[in-house]
Amino acid sequence: MTRYISTRGPGEPKDFAQILTAGMAPDGGLYIPESLPVIDRVKIERMTGQSFAEIAFMVLEQFVSKDSIPPNVLRALITHTYEESGVFGHSCVVPLSQIGPSTWLMELYHGPTLAFKDVALQLLGHLFDYVLEQRGERMTLIGATSGDTGSAAIEACRNCAHVDIVILHPHGRVSEVQRRQMTTVDSPNVHNLAVKGTFDDCQALVKAMFADAPFRYAMRLGAVNSINWARIIAQSVYYFSSAAALGGPDRPVSFAVPTGNFGNVYAGWVAAQMGLPVEQLIIGSNRNDILTRFFETGEMRVSQVQPTISPSMDIQISSNFERFLCEIMNRDFKSLAKLMSAFKANGAFRVSPEVHKRARATFSAHRCSEEDTIGMMRACYEETGRLIDPHTAVGLHAALKAANRPDLPLVSLACAHPAKFPDAVEKATGIRPELPERVAGIMTKDEHFTPVDADLDSVKEFIRNHVSV
Ligand SMILES: *Cc1c(COP(=O)(O)O)cnc(C)c1O
Repeated sequence: MTRYISTRGPGEPKDFAQILTAGMAPDGGLYIPESLPVIDRVKIERMTGQSFAEIAFMVLEQFVSKDSIPPNVLRALITHTYEESGVFGHSCVVPLSQIGPSTWLMELYHGPTLAFKDVALQLLGHLFDYVLEQRGERMTLIGATSGDTGSAAIEACRNCAHVDIVILHPHGRVSEVQRRQMTTVDSPNVHNLAVKGTFDDCQALVKAMFADAPFRYAMRLGAVNSINWARIIAQSVYYFSSAAALGGPDRPVSFAVPTGNFGNVYAGWVAAQMGLPVEQLIIGSNRNDILTRFFETGEMRVSQVQPTISPSMDIQISSNFERFLCEIMNRDFKSLAKLMSAFKANGAFRVSPEVHKRARATFSAHRCSEEDTIGMMRACYEETGRLIDPHTAVGLHAALKAANRPDLPLVSLACAHPAKFPDAVEKATGIRPELPERVAGIMTKDEHFTPVDADLDSVKEFIRNHVSV
């Protein structure tokens, strides 16, 4: 049964339920399975024609021990999330649509906040609640957001009985749609703080609260971010479901993925390691191109974050990359820990030529300028009549740059609904996309948030007074 160890040194292996609520490992590393389970060919063949929930169960049961969550409960939670809850606006959950002879879009934006993060986080909310109920515990999830993650996490936790969620966003600095997606949720366990400062101020406040051990313990703080292994594996599911729909396992499939934290595309790599025939994983980065530079040169080097029209990828440090690095360094935990501390100290590291070669075996990476992002949105609209969001455009741009075999399917991940980024879409196409009807209500609903100064004591006092641990 799969157990989990840290990327910085194995330590005592942990169970799924433990790493679900722990987030990061105590040594600063990320949790990975002791070994990745393999799903055999016959089982992948059986995925064809199955529901998304069924495929999700076939993948997730490999990672969740009976002691963490019994299989019948896991199945019920998955079925509830993807079939019964009604939060996904499409019965296939993640449908494919064809935009060229061998090119498909994987529509990941049918969840409540119109971006791919819903697919994993909706399930995580239910997993958290179940595990905490069993332990008779509560948790307070805190996170800073510049837009997408906060709303997806709030939507995932709004009905959780054992979780309070506190999201800090920079006051007046997120788009109206993004703000309303967070603030129109009216649940006693959801707390929006509008911090009078920048996103960096919000992040610094969250970090400071985690660093305060007595406060962290008293409030049972947990993190909302993309380093949770459960998020990764819940994302691997749609690589399986798409490949199964397009002729896998007999025909290998390539995937193009717009990338920031290396979470989504890493989930594709995990699927490939588990036996899914994947031809290529194609990374698209915007002008914050640290990953593309790494794949070109073998050196990871931080530079200044530059704002773009695909803001969910305006990131310099791709946290999940450490998991991948751990594997291509053949789990040499000591050397990895050294690299990571050098990275923290100097903002740069370089891998050996062999490790670099292994990295390039499945991945290729392409950067996309702001002009090319606009150009891609326009070309997609002119050629196919479809509006795509700027993140999707960065991925599709990479897909078209990568040399893919024309006889093999190429799936480009559509990570957000175009109506989430209406200004960029309108600039590219002249058309302002409308919010889907099922979410349009947020534009008139009452908002719930508390403005606070960017001051640690005020934020801590708010949390003490409002969460019920
Ligand atoms: C979060 C996000 C990304 C980046 O995903 P990673 O897993 O961090 O690589 C890309 N596009 C959209 C729309 C997002 O919300």
